[in-house]
Order: sequence, then C-alpha cells, then structure tokens
Amino acid sequence: MTEQLTVGALRAEPGTKTRGTVSVDLGTLTADLPLTLVNGSRPGPRVVITAGVHGGEFTPIDAAARLTTLLEPDEVCGQVIICPVANPPAVYQGRLNISPVDGVNINRVFPGDPDGSPTERLAAWLFAHLIHGADVYIDLHCGGIDQVLRDFVGYRLTGDPDLDKATSELARSFGIEDVILGLSAEGGNSHAAAARRGISAVLVEVGELGQRDGATARRRVDGLFQALRHLGVLDPDGATGGDVSEWVWAAGVTAEATGLWYPEFSAGDDVAEGALIGRVIDPADNREHKVHTPAGGRLFYGMHGLTVAPGDELAAIAAPWDPDRATRPADYQTPGLGVAPDEADPRS
Ligand SMILES: [Zn+2]
Repeated sequence: MTEQLTVGALRAEPGTKTRGTVSVDLGTLTADLPLTLVNGSRPGPRVVITAGVHGGEFTPIDAAARLTTLLEPDEVCGQVIICPVANPPAVYQGRLNISPVDGVNINRVFPGDPDGSPTERLAAWLFAHLIHGADVYIDLHCGGIDQVLRDFVGYRLTGDPDLDKATSELARSFGIEDVILGLSAEGGNSHAAAARRGISAVLVEVGELGQRDGATARRRVDGLFQALRHLGVLDPDGATGGDVSEWVWAAGVTAEATGLWYPEFSAGDDVAEGALIGRVIDPADNREHKVHTPAGGRLFYGMHGLTVAPGDELAAIAAPWDPDRATRPADYQTPGLGVAPDEADPRS
C-alpha cells in the first residue's frame, strides 16, 4: 500500500483520488490553486505535474485538466499530483508570463522566497509543498501569445550521471521528436530548481501563439500517459517513445532596438551561423536594424509580435548535441550558450 497523500488541507488515502482547492497566502492576497491528488493503490514514484505556471499558455492547462479526469487510482502505482493552474494571478488576470500582481515572472524565481513578493511567495509555496518530495516533476508550457515554437522537451544536466540518465530517458518518453538540454541546472526555472534538489525534472513545450487547440491538448495527454507508463506509474502498453534528436541551447537573440519586428524564419527552421533572421524597423524613420544569428542550428522559438523593445527575445537557437563535445565544455559554455533561453529572457 502507499501512504496517505496530503497537500495543504487536501488529503487522499491510498487507492483514492481527491480534487479540490488549496488557498495559499501570498502576503497581500490569496491564491486558490486547483489540485488533484491521485493516490495509487500500489507503491511507485511520486510524480508532480504543473501547468499554468505562465499565463497565456492555454493548451498545457487544457491537457493537465483533462488528465485529472482520466487518471484513476486503481490504475496508478505511486502518486500523481496535478496542478493545472499553478499561477492563478498570471493565468486569470494577465494571460502573460509576468504576474499582474507584482510584474514578476515566476519561472525566474524558483525555489522562491517565503518572505518575498506575492509571486516569490507563490514559488516558495509550490516548491515546498508540491515539487519538493517529488521523484519526478513535469512542467507543461507552450509558446505564449506572441511566440512561435517548435515542440520540444527540455531538461538540465546536473552532473549526477544517474539522475541525468533517468531524466534523459524520461524526456524521450513523451513522443516528442526534439529534446533540448541545458548544460547547467542554475537559474530560477522550476524544473532547474527541482533538478538541483535531485528530482528528475522536465519542461514540456507543445503548441504556440497561446492557441487553444483540442487536438494538441489530446496529443499532449497521450504523451503524459506514455511518460507515466515509462515511469511505471501506469502499466506498460508496449509502445516506445520513437526516435529523438538531442540538442543543446546555442543562442538566444534579443532585440537591440525599439521598433517593428519582421522575422524571416519559421519555428523549426535550420539556420547557419551569421544568417539574417529578421529586421527591426524604426517606425519614425524606417531605419533598419538587421538581426543575425550568432550560432547555427535550429530555431525552436521566436517572437511573433510586431512590436519589440530592447532585451526582448527574438529567437532561440539550439545546436545538435554531441555528448563527446561535453567533455570540452568550452565549446558550448561561452557566455549565454548552453543555457535555456527561457532563462535569459525576462519576458518569457
Ligand atoms: Zn511558459
């Protein structure tokens, strides 16, 4: 038998599923988090799945909500905790990556600060009550309302060979063709902070432009079922994840001027180092700032919005991962390389 599962005031006995809301005190306001606890009747790992860490990312929320209704405790080995809306102020009031409450992107401040701003307190609560204690953490995102994106699974190398191997295998299990790794587990992303605590953690990015799309949500639920089978939480069905290409973050390109952005690429395009990927035009005098990519590779996400300001991320490029080169980190670890661009960009 498994043990009782509790989060806040919610409780699920072994072999039961509990759905409800947990109120989290953020200092100046309270956030009500929807949570589903599925406590299996047989032992196994504890898996935590979050969506809605960012606002404006509808498909992951849709997929996580669907999963809460589909998972039944008598089919589960271990425990699954699902939070479809991890950041209610950003999801319900802003539809942006930053919270309208304090302007903070929660996915830059994990593991949070219990005495900090409301968003920092929320991160601290999520980290202490959901993520800490998990064996596996899956964080669901997609391209925001102004981002094009090619689907990928991301994770961070920690230097612990057993953990990195387990996470690599988990990343391959979702049925998503491209897996991108970051060479360091530094930074305030939830999956990076989890990896630093020895939790096998992945970021799953499926969908773009903040679109709601039932077919994509169902595809993502299928991927989650495959991952749960891989983890032994659900019984295997004989299917495999399929072939995967591995990448490492190579460059994030940011705007240097205010103006109108005219990209010349689509998400998923392969580009050579130095290639022109777009122009920022000053609407006052039509002055043009050409934007070139500092690294060759594949464009995994890019700015779709017309209006940009200095520092806005225009494109993120990953290069094919060659594990043999990992022994020569200088190849990858020049400044800004090998770090998920989701880390570097204050907006996304
Ligand atoms: Zn996101």
